[in-house]
Amino acid sequence: MAWFEENPDLLQRELHALEAAGLSCTVDESARQDEHLLRLEVSGTIEGDTHTWMCAFPDAYPYFPPFVTGPDRGYRYHHHPDTGQYCLLRDGDGGWKPSMTLAQLLREQWPKFLAAQRASSSSEATPALEVQQAEPWTQYLQYEDSRQSVLWDATLEPPESESAGFIEGVPLGKYNGFKWLALVRSDLGGQHVAGRDLGEVAREIYAAGREETIPWVRLASAPGGTDPAAWWEEAARAWEVVRPAVMAGKKKSGGAVTQLLVTFPEEVGHRELGWGWVLVRAQRRGKPKTIPPTFQRVVRVGPDDLARRAPALAPIQDRRVLVAGLGGLGSQIVRLLAQTSPAELVLWDPDVVEADTAVRWAGALAMDGVPKAVALAHDVLDTQAHTRLELLGARVGHTRGSMGQQANSVGDQHGDLVRRLPDLDLVVDATANRSVQHYLSVQARDHGVAYMRADAQYGVWSGLVGLQRPGGEVCWMCWMHHVNDQTIPTLLSDPDGEIQPPGCGAPTYVGTAFDLAPIAAESVRMATSYLTETGEADRHPFDVMTLRLRDHDGRLTVPTWEGHELERHPACPNHG
Ligand SMILES: [Zn+2]
Repeated sequence: MAWFEENPDLLQRELHALEAAGLSCTVDESARQDEHLLRLEVSGTIEGDTHTWMCAFPDAYPYFPPFVTGPDRGYRYHHHPDTGQYCLLRDGDGGWKPSMTLAQLLREQWPKFLAAQRASSSSEATPALEVQQAEPWTQYLQYEDSRQSVLWDATLEPPESESAGFIEGVPLGKYNGFKWLALVRSDLGGQHVAGRDLGEVAREIYAAGREETIPWVRLASAPGGTDPAAWWEEAARAWEVVRPAVMAGKKKSGGAVTQLLVTFPEEVGHRELGWGWVLVRAQRRGKPKTIPPTFQRVVRVGPDDLARRAPALAPIQDRRVLVAGLGGLGSQIVRLLAQTSPAELVLWDPDVVEADTAVRWAGALAMDGVPKAVALAHDVLDTQAHTRLELLGARVGHTRGSMGQQANSVGDQHGDLVRRLPDLDLVVDATANRSVQHYLSVQARDHGVAYMRADAQYGVWSGLVGLQRPGGEVCWMCWMHHVNDQTIPTLLSDPDGEIQPPGCGAPTYVGTAFDLAPIAAESVRMATSYLTETGEADRHPFDVMTLRLRDHDGRLTVPTWEGHELERHPACPNHG
């Protein structure tokens, strides 16, 4: 039953309010009876002019406002070029309250809508109507398939003095080629001027196709309307103008073009113009036949673009981090860290994912039998395309060469680590293995690299995150002594927390991903703090943080973090 059938008083209230406001209205009776929809044609005089609005009420009325549409009388703002909808409320429907009526909406907001059209600058625009937001033209365009997009990178943005050129990129087979990753910008002569190489791991994980070049052109203004054919015509004409320069440069793509990346002025901030992008195609990828032109979205996913939502993390784009131990905790740390787009992640774990670890390892079923480092490389690159990856699978501490009867294929994992350490900024150790921790903490210290340890006790009753700074006073060995001394309080552990499930070659522990999550989050908070710190003022205050989730009897407690500022331990042999 429609809202106005269920609640006839509400409809009466609307109609009375319109009448009282001096607005006349006609109910669309066929919509009302056949479709149970309320549509009104409303007319009235506001600010000396007579207007007519077509108003449609949503099924969820009055929780959401009516849609108000009408003709374009040269409105520059708040009018959808295709649907004709007038945007009368701040933030779309954010200013709407169920106690309001259509009459009130028109009487109060229409004058503000008209005022916004007259305002020429941000400061003049009526704040009562407008949120301080841009109205990019690209949001009005109809795209052929929303899954298809050009993954754009702001670092490829050409200077305004240039009017055309080429973008080289690759279709990503992993996503059926729907995503096209822009990598390099070259000038009309085919000379590379900006860009990067995808890297071996990403090329493989993405199943990147052959490099492909798409020409781009700059238009002085957005072609009127949202018809892709009109855009294509104008963009192709602009391309014809620069084509002689391409021919002179003997670039192969001097011939006919079937797709063009188009940049044009559009709002990038509130009433602030910048350059928008869209791909217009007159041919399907890999098919010879031309088609009516279509739009394809261009999405901004370069490191600068991604840093806009967390500007303080921007320095991490230049940082390199190794994560050792990619189990329940390490995998979460990698995923969270990857979302900050570091320059490089070295992922190190000798094991494969096992489907029966689902309670701790997200995606365990899909990745069963795949090396953990490879599985996480997929997660990293499914999230962003900036981070360069190196995957290490050697088991640390094994002996190379033949021992007794059995030959082994252990690589020089110590050499691999020592080779990588000098250009790393941080080693995150989530192995929860005391020998590995000791080894990695010493190697990191010897090479002047920060070392971080993150682990949980059985049952995830408690956890620990610690940062050993390069050249710092306190080291991993100091922490161990402080734990023995109880300067760091005892980390509680489930006495029945070690188990060996059927078919499992080694004992494992009881614990869940959701209990590990706060430890992973704190590890990444501490890691990103260290990686972005500029001096004493914004330096993370603690060496070690401990988390308690349960009490001595295993009962849930309020999760409690404790920070420990530690001194060098007198018994530690590492400080001569
Ligand atoms: Zn020490």
